[in-house]
Formats: sequence, structure tokens, C-alpha cells
Amino acid sequence: MMEDWRKILKKSLTTPEQILEKFKVDINPIKAVVKKYPMFVSRYYFDLIGEVDDPIWKQCIPSPLELQDPYGYEDPLNEEGDSPVPGLVHRYPDRVLMCVSNSCAMYCRFCTRKRKVGKPVINFSDDVYLAQIKYIRENPSIRDVLLSGGDPFMLPDEKIEFLLKKLKGIPHVEILRIGSRIPCTLPQRITPKLCRILKEYHPLYVNVHFEHPLEITEESERACGLLADAGIPLGNQSVLLKGVNDDPEVMKNLVHKLLRIRVRPYYLFQMDLVKGTYHFRTRVETGIKIIESLVGWTSGLAVPRFVIDAPGGGGKIPLQPDYILSIDDEKVVLRNYEGKVFVYPQTPVEKENNGVFIPLKTHQQYTRQNV
Ligand SMILES: *Cc1c(COP(=O)(O)O)cnc(C)c1O
Ligand code: SF4
Repeated sequence: MMEDWRKILKKSLTTPEQILEKFKVDINPIKAVVKKYPMFVSRYYFDLIGEVDDPIWKQCIPSPLELQDPYGYEDPLNEEGDSPVPGLVHRYPDRVLMCVSNSCAMYCRFCTRKRKVGKPVINFSDDVYLAQIKYIRENPSIRDVLLSGGDPFMLPDEKIEFLLKKLKGIPHVEILRIGSRIPCTLPQRITPKLCRILKEYHPLYVNVHFEHPLEITEESERACGLLADAGIPLGNQSVLLKGVNDDPEVMKNLVHKLLRIRVRPYYLFQMDLVKGTYHFRTRVETGIKIIESLVGWTSGLAVPRFVIDAPGGGGKIPLQPDYILSIDDEKVVLRNYEGKVFVYPQTPVEKENNGVFIPLKTHQQYTRQNV
């Protein structure tokens, strides 16, 4: 019988002193950090650390660099500015982000909501939830509700069911989504009972959050398998992190392992300009190079979309390596993943006034000539 997730959670690390149980490091600089940004690491995730400063350590153990960030903002995406009611972010025309919890099974040091995690900024209660749900019910343009947090799976099963049931009861809400890092940080929380509840609320999508191949373990595979067996399509959201996954080989290994546990890579995020996370930030070219190293070289299923969430709010903006060398009325000159050049003739455009087609060279004329 697997250990109950609540018991595992009780053994979480919340103070720098506990790090000493396994690693002999100077914890004094860490103590200063946790006064500003609290620490919380599930015992399961802590046990994944192989050595000091490895990719797992970097994500969960506070670093003195967090206090030396030369710039950055508490709320870089201006989520508060797009919040009509507490915890709800309505930024896009047809969907909302609904924060339902302040807590997580681990406080990722790079979190976009670093201002919130581990701090009771919103006292989530049924009144708060009902106000969020009322807003959604009164706005028929909302067809997609994304539960986030904090981590929604930190809530008790009954509360999750309460929220899903209320949301599913709104006629214009077509799909429900949950964003959770728990399959990675506390996979024991994904129980058959939870999955029995979730599968009553289809179409339900879950986006998980893995950053490094070391996080894909037997336990996380089991958790994702249970969710997938409940008919839930799984996507993954990663953040590009210096020293963790900012390397084409690491990323390729990660996306391949994700597909093997039935998770499809969805987004790769450029780090938001969050105060206290400067040391994790890579240059934008790094992400583009990683995408370039995947496109064509591996399954399209394995390639996430690289995005920057617009500073100040404005939504996610996709970034691509440039495969278009030129484009005009007659032809598009393209390169493929290997750098070979191809010409694709444009579809003829009807002229505006007299309905005459612009004369085009034939396809053969283009493909025979060298560009
Ligand atoms: C990311 C995000 C969503 C969901 O975006 P998708 O691109 O549809 O996955 C919705 N609302 C907010 C505020 C977001 O940041
Ligand atoms: S699990 Fe998600 S919300 Fe929680 S600290 Fe990590 S990144 Fe932030």
C-alpha cells in the first residue's frame, strides 16, 4: 500500500535546518532568503536531489541569489490588473485563469507567482469561490476555465469536486482545465479516487509541469498514467531555467520521456521578469535554439511552443525559429530543419478590379531553378 500523500506532505521541508539531514552546507545565507520567500519542499521531491546544486536542488532549495536580483517585478504580468474578482484573471476573450489555492507541494524558486506562493494573499473560502463562479456565470464569452493557483490538487477531493461540479453546471463553459505540478512534486496525491472524481467532468484537460528528465520517475509515471487512464489529455508546461534545462540535449531527453509517460509537451516559457529569479533567466535565443534543435529532428508531438508572456500583461506570444527566408506575391522561399532551401509557389491572387489572375511561373519553373 502506497503511503498516504497527506502523511508524505507532513514530512515536507520548511526550514533550512532540515536540509542538513542530507547535505552538509552553510545554511546561514539560506535563512535570510526564506524570511522573504518561504521554502517548502515535499519529502518526495527532496529525495530526488542527487547532489548540491544539481537541477533538482536548484529548483527547490532557496538561493542567496534570490535577494540579489537587480530588477524584476512582483507581478510581472500584471495579473492583479486583470482580476475582476479575487483570484480570477480574465485576460483573453474566451477563457479565464481561476486561482483556487495558495499552496503547492513545493515552492519552485522561479515561480511566476512568487509574490503569492506560501503567503495567504487570498483567504480561499467558499465565498471567494462562489464570487469567482458568479463572474464566470455572468460572462457568457467564457468557454474555458483553467484552475490554477497555487496548486488545485492541494485541495481535498471534495473541494475539487465542488468546484468542478459548479463550473460544469454553467452552460457556456465548454471545457475545464487544471494546471498542476503535483504529478511531478507529489505524485502520490494522484489517487484512483481523485481520478474517479475527475473523469466525471469531461472534457477536462490537465497540464502538468516537469522541468528536467530526472523528475520522470516510476511514481510520476504512475500518476500521469492514472490521469491518462481517466481519459484526461495531459500537456506539459516547462519554464526555461538556466543550469536546469537550458540545453538542447536535456530538453530533448525531457520531451521524449514525457511522451513515454503519455504527456504531450505544450508550452516552453521564457522566464517572466519575476523579482528574485534573475539567476534563472536565459537569453531568448537559447529557447529558439532549443526549438530549432527539436523541429524536424524529432516527432512534432514532442515539440512544445516557446512563448514569452508579455510583460505587463498582453498574453503569451509564440516565438519560432525563422523558416521563411522571403515571401512575396509569387513565392515563399523556405528552409527546412536541415537548412535546405525550398520554393513554394504562392496561390494565384485574383486581381481586384478585372478579375484577372496575376500570371505565375509554374511550379516546375521554380523547383528546377536554384534559388
Ligand atoms: C496562460 C493563461 C491562460 C491559458 O492560456 P492558453 O494559451 O489557452 O493555454 C489563460 N489565462 C491566463 C491569464 C493565462 O496566463
Ligand atoms: S507548483 Fe507552480 S504555482 Fe506552485 S510554486 Fe511551483 S511554479 Fe509556482
